[in-house]
Amino acid sequence: MDAQHDCIVVINAGSSSIKFTLFAGAALDLLVKGSIDNLYSGPTRFIARDAGGATLGERTWDDAPLDHAAGMRHLVDFVEQRLDGHRVAAVGHRIVHGGMHYSGPQALDGTVLAALDALVPLAPLHLPHNLAAVRAMMAMAPGVPQTGCFDTAFHTAQPALAQAFALPASITGHGIRRYGFHGLSYEYIASRLPQADARLSEAKVVAAHLGNGASMCAMAAGRSMASTMGFTAVDGLPMGTRCGTLDPGVVLYLIDELGWDVAAVQKLLYQQSGLLGVSGISSDMRVLERSDAPAARLAIDLLVYRIGRELGSLAAALGGLDALVFSGGIGENSVALRAAVCRDAAWLGVALDPAANAANPREVARISTPDSKVAVWVLPANEELMIARHTLALLQQG
Ligand code: ADP
Repeated sequence: MDAQHDCIVVINAGSSSIKFTLFAGAALDLLVKGSIDNLYSGPTRFIARDAGGATLGERTWDDAPLDHAAGMRHLVDFVEQRLDGHRVAAVGHRIVHGGMHYSGPQALDGTVLAALDALVPLAPLHLPHNLAAVRAMMAMAPGVPQTGCFDTAFHTAQPALAQAFALPASITGHGIRRYGFHGLSYEYIASRLPQADARLSEAKVVAAHLGNGASMCAMAAGRSMASTMGFTAVDGLPMGTRCGTLDPGVVLYLIDELGWDVAAVQKLLYQQSGLLGVSGISSDMRVLERSDAPAARLAIDLLVYRIGRELGSLAAALGGLDALVFSGGIGENSVALRAAVCRDAAWLGVALDPAANAANPREVARISTPDSKVAVWVLPANEELMIARHTLALLQQG
């Protein structure tokens, strides 16, 4: 890895977008961040910004929308033409599911891709798009090493009980168990927290990654012990548009009594529920916080209530609680939500410092009072850096 000229490209490919981040040299300095949005539906839009937020490149395709392969082609061309002198040393991909087998980052080749294809039924909404970007890159630049970093990997260390469903072995034998997601975010939090306070390296921590997707994870000494997401990323907390934990009897009722088909149920659970479904207004926390509609208030109250319930459950799984961490777009920015969650968690020994909370720190910062039994932290998510670190480590191993 040439400290000056090599860069690692981190890719997060979704169904209609490719988010990318470029890190330079072995220090992994942030070089470029951007996205290609509206793949397939159009108008596809490319935007790239430097570390300071200044626009480096921008393009819109008004005629024909791009697919994943064409999007990746444009990105590679952009890197080659616009980032003079920089060479793509490796590409790291965020991959939603690694099944039971992949417990860490993995160098990607044809054999691994075939194994990942077999996992598509476990994550049909995300995995095919992750793999499309890998394949596009492989076809364009077969000599560039690619790494897969899995959202499930961090959780493979959980105790067996935390991963189990109370189902017969004939069912769980199909891989039906709790996997947990957002693992790269939690792994980053686990790596960053002891740097902020060395006493936390052995601590019992519950981290809440609250973005459009939202989950919580119980960690002991930096290892995942339990998580709110389970077999799929629809479990646990209510999210922007996902319902979170739901009595499975509701699904049976919709199908059996109301005659819904699978596609309609899936749409309800993934796209029409959560903050959007309850409020009837928006999945965006900022919009709900500005609204004075009672249904917007209810959606926020329900999220706060569910976070509190899960916090109690995860603290029980840990047998105690030393620290609570807020991350993700909502966790990092919503002063009111953090205040409400901490108010409800007073019974656990949480005492928020209102001024520190209201300061809305942009960096990792403690927002609890000095004598709070449970330390409360805000820690900006950085899954991309975690992926870049893994990719660099695999590259250096050769
Ligand atoms: P994703 O899971 O897609 O990466 P983010 O982590 O960016 O999403 O989080 C998006 C969520 O963060 C949205 O609900 C958005 O409203 C919320 N958010 C962003 N900024 C703020 C803010 N200043 N106050 C409250 N919520 C915010």
